Amino acid sequence: MTQTLPDVNRDLELAGLTREYSAHNYHPLPVIAASASGVWVTDVNGRRYLDMLAGYSALNFGHRHPRLVVAAVRQLERVTLVSRAFDHDQFGPFCAELARLCGMDMVLPMNTGAEAVETAIKVSRKWGYEVRGVPADQAVIVVFDGNFHGRTTTIVSFSSDPDAKDGFGPYTPGFVSVPYGDLAAVESVFAAYGPRVVAVLVEPIQGEAGVVVPPPGFLAGVRALCTSAGALMIADEIQSGLGRVGVTFACTADDVVPDAYLLGKALGGGIVPVSAMVSSRSVLGVLKPGQHGSTFGGNPLACAVAREVVAMLSTGEYQARSAALGAVLHSRLAALPASVVSSVRGRGLWAGVSFAPSSGLSGRAACERLARLGVLAKETHGSTIRLAPPLVISEDELDWGMERFTEAVLGS
Ligand SMILES: *Cc1c(COP(=O)(O)O)cnc(C)c1O
Repeated sequence: MTQTLPDVNRDLELAGLTREYSAHNYHPLPVIAASASGVWVTDVNGRRYLDMLAGYSALNFGHRHPRLVVAAVRQLERVTLVSRAFDHDQFGPFCAELARLCGMDMVLPMNTGAEAVETAIKVSRKWGYEVRGVPADQAVIVVFDGNFHGRTTTIVSFSSDPDAKDGFGPYTPGFVSVPYGDLAAVESVFAAYGPRVVAVLVEPIQGEAGVVVPPPGFLAGVRALCTSAGALMIADEIQSGLGRVGVTFACTADDVVPDAYLLGKALGGGIVPVSAMVSSRSVLGVLKPGQHGSTFGGNPLACAVAREVVAMLSTGEYQARSAALGAVLHSRLAALPASVVSSVRGRGLWAGVSFAPSSGLSGRAACERLARLGVLAKETHGSTIRLAPPLVISEDELDWGMERFTEAVLGS
């Protein structure tokens, strides 16, 4: 029998259920969403918030974009899952359209971002053994300090964040981590491990680390080192990609073409989890039937929504919005006093904002103030918060959000 909870104190009741019955692996802000549309979220009390987090870029097109809802509903009424035991009429077109958007040959769809990263790790190791002749179990993958690639046991094995890593050993070997942005350090790994290095796995901009943009020339340098050593450059664009930085891929902003893109988050249009490794025939071609997969990977509903995402990105409209409005966002942030904001990083509609120690502001405290003022954002580490509004935000909405932001960080 179901019983409707009384509306009075409904948010307290709901928060109580969450506290009591859900594992405490998150520390959510005190906002309980009941509905959302575009850039606006409405809570259980009818209060509206401007969403400046956008699901860590999973909501690049805002909440329930009409085109994406239509694509999802239309597919819900036809077929939603067949498993990869059979083909379906959305699968081939999805792979072809995403490959074309990426300028690559082939797609391997999964669900979560972490699974796309796992796919890349498995594929680059196998490619190293079969194509490059690396001795069995000797493959090395270069990664970067401060990385965030997901939460699986293998991925946290090469995390430098104690929260993500500690207590989860024994760890998967085969990764060497060097400082982000330090090309000489990458070079020294190639020198030390020679042909055992099969891949460099890099976020073109480190999202969880606080929207850290590498020095100019770094990505091109990684590209050149990979090319001369015959190793794969794998770009984890799960957060940076699909329009967030004002172009389709953050690599493109640096004129770099990797050997593989890892995509997720926005690829599912904020509706279903969809991720993918997109690469060349020679790389993805190492997989034979039965060697890798996922029951839900590439399912009809996921493909239908992701096809619409790809269609929306193929016009360049959302990338252009991100570039234009990103300039507004960054100029508003640049105008804040250095005594409060010590640094701002980012590109397009994506910013990491660090508060000066003298401000006394923690990222968490700023986000709590913002929520009270009607803006949703999330801290990354300590004194840093990330702003990543949906790319469908209007200039007026962005202005409104930045006024609240200024009030939150200046008013005390
Ligand atoms: C979010 C993220 C992931 C992991 O994606 P999940 O869907 O949470 O597994 C991997 N890489 C980057 C860069 C991310 O931002």
